[in-house]
Amino acid sequence: MGTTTQPDTHDLIVGIDLGTTNSLVAAFVDNKPIVLGSEDEQITPSVVRYEDERVVVGRDARDRAVEFPKQTITSIKRLMGRSLADAQDDAAYLSYDIAEGQNNTARAVLPSGKAVSPQEVSAEILKALRDKASSALGREVSKAVVTVPAYFDDAQRQATRDAGRLAGLDVVRIVNEPTAAALAYGLGTGKETEAKTVAIYDLGGGTFDISILRLTPAAQEGQTSFFQVIATAGDTHLGGDDIDQRLVRLFLDEIRETLGLDASVADLDAFGPETRRALIGFAESVKMKLSTEDSASIRIDLGQGRAYERSVSRDELETLMTPWVDRTIAACERAIASAKRAPGGGESLAIDSVILVGGSTRVPLVRKRVAEFFGLEPYTALDPDRVVALGAAVQAGIMSGGAKGMLLLDVIPLSLGIETQGGAVAKLITANSTVPARATEMFSTSVDGQTSIKINILQGEREMAEHCRALGEFHLSGLPPMPAGIPQLQVEFLVDASGVLAVSAHEKRSGKRASLQVIPNHGLSRDEIDAIEADSFKHAREDMTRHRVVDLVVNSKLDVKWIGERLAKFGDKLEPDDRATLEGLLTKLGKFIANAEADWQSVNADEFYKTKQSLDEASVRLQEIGIAESLKED
Ligand code: AMP
Repeated sequence: MGTTTQPDTHDLIVGIDLGTTNSLVAAFVDNKPIVLGSEDEQITPSVVRYEDERVVVGRDARDRAVEFPKQTITSIKRLMGRSLADAQDDAAYLSYDIAEGQNNTARAVLPSGKAVSPQEVSAEILKALRDKASSALGREVSKAVVTVPAYFDDAQRQATRDAGRLAGLDVVRIVNEPTAAALAYGLGTGKETEAKTVAIYDLGGGTFDISILRLTPAAQEGQTSFFQVIATAGDTHLGGDDIDQRLVRLFLDEIRETLGLDASVADLDAFGPETRRALIGFAESVKMKLSTEDSASIRIDLGQGRAYERSVSRDELETLMTPWVDRTIAACERAIASAKRAPGGGESLAIDSVILVGGSTRVPLVRKRVAEFFGLEPYTALDPDRVVALGAAVQAGIMSGGAKGMLLLDVIPLSLGIETQGGAVAKLITANSTVPARATEMFSTSVDGQTSIKINILQGEREMAEHCRALGEFHLSGLPPMPAGIPQLQVEFLVDASGVLAVSAHEKRSGKRASLQVIPNHGLSRDEIDAIEADSFKHAREDMTRHRVVDLVVNSKLDVKWIGERLAKFGDKLEPDDRATLEGLLTKLGKFIANAEADWQSVNADEFYKTKQSLDEASVRLQEIGIAESLKED
């Protein structure tokens, strides 16, 4: 990636999400939090392999873990600041040996007999993150905000600080992971005027945490708000890995049947580590595919010309997942019950926002059940794998003075809309509307038999999509084929008080729905907004004309299609003169369309409009005949 520079006037502090499975480093740069590293290298697996002469951290260590089970240290976070007795439950899940170190603390024991403390192992991960940040920012990094689970006790927090020190990092603040997630969404960065209660549902690969936070607004402008964890619950051995294992068992049962093998083969332990890893890999990719598709297929070569082939539907996976999701919801119930008992909680405790964290929250069933349980659409605009690191960077930005200009406004600074036919923009919410804001508009298709509609969400004041900022896109698919203009697509924009935009599309005839959340103001400064506004004034006249021509093309095409079809069918029932007039106007309008599509500036919009009007007027008789004839047919 390119080197990003931070102004030297700010003390450089990075934000680190030191996770059980994966770790990330982020920084507050150009007014926004960004995860550092190139796209496919932003995530550093929290895995460390100890070799005789060197230590390998990250992807290579993870990928070759089965080759070196005893010298590859995974999930070290589970041992941080814990006694051997406390860590016993976790030992069964670890491939390496553990033993008691100083002060009864748990340590990892390498094949050489050398023991390494969780602080030392974590320091290796932190060093790798520090190096990554230093090279991405082009400056030596020595200070960090590091996140920890809300339930970490003092010893675990101190162990995290010590790991930082060993890595040459001054840990300037330890932040709770759920608090970081809330900060990433702009909660608590100074805008709130009232207390809020936020739930953070964090479902990863191997752990589940639910935290309820109370957010008390800043007493004075310029100060940050205050977060308090009022309840936590969860399960340290519940996550996406369980689903992978469940799928593997299903596949193995069926493979055994296919091959006529005995029951022992259905046991994953009967296979070597490579095969086990491959099967889990298959299962995980099926699971991930089913988060966006309705079915996924798998094929495993069994040798001797035999293969196991199968397709898994989303419904089938959801049946397997239901008891798993139930367990997370039961933990949410426990957390809510204990939050009610917390000072200020009370029976009337209301959750204002729900934030999703962790890769497993991409599962649609998880999103649906969480939304149902809390009675709220959860926040999904930020990548659930990156949201904690982004929040750590926001905290780092606040502490180094760089986040003062974070754009948190009570009004929507730039218009929000979607791309319509021909590349024009339909604005649903206009600039300077106050938040929260809601708008709905009906759309349709302009092509026959369209089974998927793309919703491209845009921000800006210009009239054409290409001149606006693209915020995100999604597809409403699975529509039954219908003639152009028949689908009834309702698009709703909802910007909540925190500035999160939820866009949903609902095709009313088929009942199909799809939605997406984005944060429109993420990373925009006041200056950038002013520049976008000024640009739109400069191009106002030209933009209006272009939008008009584009709309004329779309509507004229529909006219040409409908009128052309009717003329072919009922033309012989018209007076010959009327028919000739219509044919002439159709040809003339067709030329306008072709010219406008080649170069919109080459056509005279007024003449184009007049021709369309003339055709509409001249076709009245034909339409009447059409209606009369279709009544006869009925
Ligand atoms: P984390 O511990 O937060 O990195 O989450 C990792 C877990 O998220 C693993 O179990 C992944 O299989 C799971 N995961 C990641 N992406 C998806 C997806 N698109 N659909 C379902 N699960 C996913």
